[in-house]
Amino acid sequence: MSALRARSARIMIDGEKLSQELATLATFSDARPPAVTRIVFSDADLEARGYVKGLCTDAGLVVREDAVGNTFARWSGERPEEAAVGTGSHIDAIPNAGRFDGTVGVLGGLEAIRALKRSGFAPQRPIELLIFTSEEPTRFGIGCLGSRLLSGSRDASVDEKLKDKGGLSLGDMRKAAGFTGDLKQVPLSRGDYEGFVELHIEQGPLLEREQRDIGVVTAIAAPASLRISVEGQGGHAGGVVMADRRDALCAASEIILAVESAAKSSGSLDTVATTGVCDVFPSAVNSIPSRVHLEIDLRDIEEQRRESVFRSMGRSCQEIAERRSINIRTEILNADAPGECAAHIVEAIERACRANQFRFQRLVSRAYHDSLFMSRIAPTGMIFIPCRGGVSHRPDEYASPEAISRGTLILAQTLAELASR
Ligand SMILES: [Zn+2]
Repeated sequence: MSALRARSARIMIDGEKLSQELATLATFSDARPPAVTRIVFSDADLEARGYVKGLCTDAGLVVREDAVGNTFARWSGERPEEAAVGTGSHIDAIPNAGRFDGTVGVLGGLEAIRALKRSGFAPQRPIELLIFTSEEPTRFGIGCLGSRLLSGSRDASVDEKLKDKGGLSLGDMRKAAGFTGDLKQVPLSRGDYEGFVELHIEQGPLLEREQRDIGVVTAIAAPASLRISVEGQGGHAGGVVMADRRDALCAASEIILAVESAAKSSGSLDTVATTGVCDVFPSAVNSIPSRVHLEIDLRDIEEQRRESVFRSMGRSCQEIAERRSINIRTEILNADAPGECAAHIVEAIERACRANQFRFQRLVSRAYHDSLFMSRIAPTGMIFIPCRGGVSHRPDEYASPEAISRGTLILAQTLAELASR
């Protein structure tokens, strides 16, 4: 299927062109194909930005960039002074990633706008494509940097000093990349956007398994991340009898299992917890571990439930610490509030699915996206399309041209409805 025509309107998605553009975008990469590596402010990222901006200009959109490199490409519409309808996603990619995460929302967003233009649609409000800076946390350790700043949930003067592993600051890097404005000017106001809709691959197996064309996102889970330091007492693996031990790794093992069981007993499938980091000191076979460093990721779409899981983990830590005479210190690195999608946008997406007789279902997003932060300043919705095996952040990440065209068509119709309000 190279062109997908809406059943009710004259909107036609040029799937072939969109696939070619996704393939071209994937060539701006620091990894060997099919892998894509595109770290924010690298040459690959800047070249990819140049490519996408060129496509936007070709489509007759007016391009502007803010001080952190968020890019806005606007179709003014009949009433340019009105609040815009936004769409978009990110083009940065973690090391050894695939070509569809984020890019489908950017190039699909652009194709949705071009398709609306070709159809003769005249939007009442501006429609704007957004390309967010650094959705991935690879360089600065914080995910959704661009959209966080847009939503005003960060202190610009602190962020200016964020450093990457090489010691380079965000302030220096963004300026070297040509984004010289004042970071304090980045936040938008509630009311700048009438609505925001992001098209994205699901990054999970549900839609493929259920044979759905479209996932209509109702809520976006937010991660909390914790660091737990466990301190016991080291010693010779032969010299210290078992009764005298204060083994930090044994305590950490109990904590890891307590984290798992706290998440499992929350009563909801939407609670997930992962201990992804476990550093053992001194990590020698004949030495009792004296220190362990754990990092835990805890997510839910309900903040209160996430908090209660967190409290239950805290009680377990306390009990383990006392029983084993171990020191356990917990530090919250980050705890974002989950986001809810706007009912009228969820319904608009569903109407578009029905009009095209696409199979759809409601779901929650367990991964977080720029939409999580956009939902703090504008009514927001997300359109998911299936990806093969639910695989993402890997070179074999794949969404079919047909799935991408369907998502893009639903996006175009949703934008048209919101821009007519
Ligand atoms: Zn993404």
